[in-house]
Amino acid sequence: MSNIAFIGLGIMGSPMAVHLQNAGHTVKGFDLNPSNAQKLVDAGGRAVTSIADAVRGADVVAVMVPDSPHVQAVLAGEKGVFETAEPGALIIDFSSIRPDVTQELAKQAAERGFRLIDAPVSGGEPGAVNATLSIMVGGSAEDFASAKPFLDTVGKTVVHVGTNGAGQTVKSANQLIVATNIQALAEAVVFLEAYGVDLGPALDVLGGGLAGSAVLNQKRDKMANREFAPGFRIDLHHKDMGIFTTAAREAGLVTPAGSLIAQLVASARANGDGHLDHSALLRGVERLSGK
Ligand code: NAD
Repeated sequence: MSNIAFIGLGIMGSPMAVHLQNAGHTVKGFDLNPSNAQKLVDAGGRAVTSIADAVRGADVVAVMVPDSPHVQAVLAGEKGVFETAEPGALIIDFSSIRPDVTQELAKQAAERGFRLIDAPVSGGEPGAVNATLSIMVGGSAEDFASAKPFLDTVGKTVVHVGTNGAGQTVKSANQLIVATNIQALAEAVVFLEAYGVDLGPALDVLGGGLAGSAVLNQKRDKMANREFAPGFRIDLHHKDMGIFTTAAREAGLVTPAGSLIAQLVASARANGDGHLDHSALLRGVERLSGK
């Protein structure tokens, strides 16, 4: 069994840290918001008050924070992981960040004798709570093999997709597909309601055909009931669409659906919905339709 530092105990990190603790590891958790460590403590883990405390004695350092600057601060910042972790520690970055930032951090990690994999996840809060996440991993084959038992504890579909940064590139494609799906579902819901069709049976039959999807299953009730507590905040999806559109442009690609969905996510945010679940893209459809 291993000593694990878990940094970032938010909507996703908290249940993931609890699964690792329940699997028999010793988990020390750190979050800027101390109350976020409560579930880990209830499961027998420890809450600590700094990164240095978390990584002391840890052979694995898991990170699950919002965006590239947060990961840079946690790893390369003053009194961060690179300064304070045990030599040779395996760093698993579960956060969704820019692929180029991951590559730079992996280089810095290797220079300091650490191992780092990018391991962004998909499956939403239910995936984290039920340990059924899909995890897309970038890094060396050896580091992937070392990390696999920990990844299997929090995920169901765990795939090595390439070298450092590849995990983030796959996650970026994931976010394009998810946001586009959510927008389509939102438009379908508003359309069905406009024609007075009973949503329950309509979504049941749609879910059984080619229109069925994890997005439909996970988001249909949130949309039908206008319950938009996150889940996955629109602010985070805005971050992810920024990562996608920048990377697509740098590759010289034309991705019109991606650009449109990025604009719709930005509009949702500009209208004050950034703190809501991304299923609240439905509110944007209603606004545009004068509803
Ligand atoms: P969240 O905001 O709920 O959690 C992030 C946590 O990181 C917060 O508790 C925050 O206090 C903490 N944090 C930030 N900076 C820190 C620092 N320097 N040191 C310690 N703690 C710090 O976000 P989340 O929904 O858990 O998402 C985390 C990451 O997972 C993001 O990159 C997101 O894009 C990705 N993700 C989220 C979901 C989802 O459904 N919520 C799904 C897949 C991937």
